[in-house]
Amino acid sequence: MVDWMEIEKKHFMRTVERAPLTIVKGQGSHVWDESGKKYLDFVAGWAVNSLGHCHPAVVEAVRRQVGELIQTSNHYYTIPQLQLAQLLVENSSLDKIFLCNSGAEATEGAVKLARRYGKLHLDGAYEVITGTGSFHGRTLAMVSASGQLKHQAPYTPLPAGFINVEYNNIEAIKKATSRTVCAVMLEPVQGEGGVNVPSPDYLKEVRRWCDEKGIVLILDEIQTGIGRTGTLFAHQSFGIEPDIMSLAKGLGGGLPIGAIMAKDKFSVFTFGEHGSTFGGNPVTCAAAFETLKFILENDVPRNAYDMGQRLTERLNGLSAKHPGLITNIRGKGLLMAVQFSSDIAKTLAQKCLEAGLLVNDVKPNAIRLMPALTITAGEIDEAVDLLDKAITRLGVGN
Ligand SMILES: *Cc1c(COP(=O)(O)O)cnc(C)c1O
Repeated sequence: MVDWMEIEKKHFMRTVERAPLTIVKGQGSHVWDESGKKYLDFVAGWAVNSLGHCHPAVVEAVRRQVGELIQTSNHYYTIPQLQLAQLLVENSSLDKIFLCNSGAEATEGAVKLARRYGKLHLDGAYEVITGTGSFHGRTLAMVSASGQLKHQAPYTPLPAGFINVEYNNIEAIKKATSRTVCAVMLEPVQGEGGVNVPSPDYLKEVRRWCDEKGIVLILDEIQTGIGRTGTLFAHQSFGIEPDIMSLAKGLGGGLPIGAIMAKDKFSVFTFGEHGSTFGGNPVTCAAAFETLKFILENDVPRNAYDMGQRLTERLNGLSAKHPGLITNIRGKGLLMAVQFSSDIAKTLAQKCLEAGLLVNDVKPNAIRLMPALTITAGEIDEAVDLLDKAITRLGVGN
């Protein structure tokens, strides 16, 4: 067998510390390695494979489109991107869309749009308030926007124009709002930051504040959107609507796509002010269209909600079985984290892998669970059983 790990070490810029697993095949909520060993996947491409691996709707859409038309310039009309645009707009509270290729590109574009609005309507205001512990992507500007020192420190000095204040604290936002602020940008639930769910009124208060000041509310729904938290968009469950929203991860059913959406009032880009060569690509858009259609027709967000409830119940059972080990279970829908009393997440993730379960160690003391939204009750139960087994093998449970 080829030693792929050796090749990676030799040739790759080593920006990710990979798990010792080479995935060669995926189907539904399972993946396989080269030796044929099967794993239950609770990482799902980092909350990307919303319908699981190689869902027939996605596979068929890609196959069909790839034989028809793969890529053209956005100088011309193509049908898949317009079908996707129509379906997304009709099923959201937003009016206009711009398609791109990734999450960072979507949030970066959302900030550009808010700055454009600031220049036109807010006396040139340009600063964006963001939350501590947030994650908005890896471009220089989005690293500056993200409230995590570990992503920022290697790249200082960072682009200016972002004010980072405590997440889930409305007073901090109010205090930071000056005449040069054009927008507030938040994740409805923080994902990479450790699955942090704000208090129920926080987003409503932020919405009210942005309305009062006339500034833009951008919601980064890259991880929470497209059913992940139990509603099509997380903001629906918090009872608010954003002015601008970014999407990516689950949108393409596994293919790389991002989107900026905005209310008419905030959709202020004019010809030439923003663009993308690959954005709106026919193949990725065909996949995203069929993914979204399947999600809507089969009420997949409802399954995410129900399975999230079941996962929470089963994890509570696991917590009771190992007293003192699990200190917190948090999340929304199928974006969950389990926190432990010590920094065992990395070794536990390794034990889970050995047991046949993929999980993400999102924090030194917490793992994140984000399976496909089509996960079944049986697979939820199996995952918690495997987690139990891994805890026992680690020798930390009672
Ligand atoms: C993953 C993520 C991003 C960045 O997406 P990329 O596709 O990796 O650029 C931005 N914001 C949030 C909330 C994310 O979860």
